[in-house]
Amino acid sequence: MISPASAAWGVVGHDAAVERLRRQIVVGQVRHATLVSGPAGVGKRTLVTAWLKALNCQHPPAPGEFCGECRACAKIERGVHPDIQRFDLESQAAASARKGGMNRQITIETARDVRSSAAIRPIEGRWRVVVIDDAETLAETAQEALLKTLEEPPPSMLLVLLSDDQEALLPTILSRCQLIDLKPVASSAIEVMLVERGAGNAAELARMAQGRPGWALRALTKPALAEQHLSDVEEAIDWLSGDSYQRVVTAIKQADRFAKGRAETLDRLTILHTVWRDLLLIGSNLPDRVTYLAPRDRLSMLAANWTLSDLKRGLVAVQTCISDLEANVRPRLAMETMVLQWPNR
Ligand SMILES: [Zn+2]
Repeated sequence: MISPASAAWGVVGHDAAVERLRRQIVVGQVRHATLVSGPAGVGKRTLVTAWLKALNCQHPPAPGEFCGECRACAKIERGVHPDIQRFDLESQAAASARKGGMNRQITIETARDVRSSAAIRPIEGRWRVVVIDDAETLAETAQEALLKTLEEPPPSMLLVLLSDDQEALLPTILSRCQLIDLKPVASSAIEVMLVERGAGNAAELARMAQGRPGWALRALTKPALAEQHLSDVEEAIDWLSGDSYQRVVTAIKQADRFAKGRAETLDRLTILHTVWRDLLLIGSNLPDRVTYLAPRDRLSMLAANWTLSDLKRGLVAVQTCISDLEANVRPRLAMETMVLQWPNR
């Protein structure tokens, strides 16, 4: 259920994060640099937008809250507040004269622009806010350039980094930011939100969202997203249905993808983890509690091959692989070790 603090900010879940940021406003101890991390769609932008409103609102209904109607709130909502500047891959591409598509990294030139932007004095509010989105794509040279800004922050600067992946940032950056790591939101809270927005398939979408309200909202307006997700689920089922040779081949393929798209590969592993958990639930005679309703028949047939301890071993192997990858174990090693732990077909 939605707690009062999160509800006042219009945020689904993330009670602790909302409370922490709200309190800092109330006691007047707002930090110069904050990194908000968490998987895509978990609610990073929504949280930051609410936070910036709470910082700038002209008529807050209560300390640390915002009205949503004053000029400051309205400008923030529309992304046109003069004291707030956003940088991301898209704005970088727009600013750059170079042709030939988007750069996949935020460059040192952009980091320098961030520095100049952060030095500007605020016009309407107390804070000059610079938001760097897609911070997981910051080039190492860009991060080093950013360090200077973090080491000597202009007095009214508020630097906000948004990253799908905390690990993509240098420890020297992390140590200078307050870290807000957003965890998946309970599917019950997502379901409530979807019902409020009139979703017909709220329960199923909320399960598929795997803790990401933003994903659920997008899937509401874009059915293709849910279809793609289900196809990723089928792909995960294919992976664990294969014989040991096929499993290793897929493991190597996935490991090689990891270098290019860390967050995407981790998403796939999360789906794989959920599939194993569904198998375990079916094996434990709890089919109603599965996440994926559509492929339930296929999962039931698979689960029948294995004992409960087989299923647990499969699940634990995926968990271990995810922690190994987060701890920077070589991807091929982590993934091959995982599939070798899976029970035989
Ligand atoms: Zn307001």
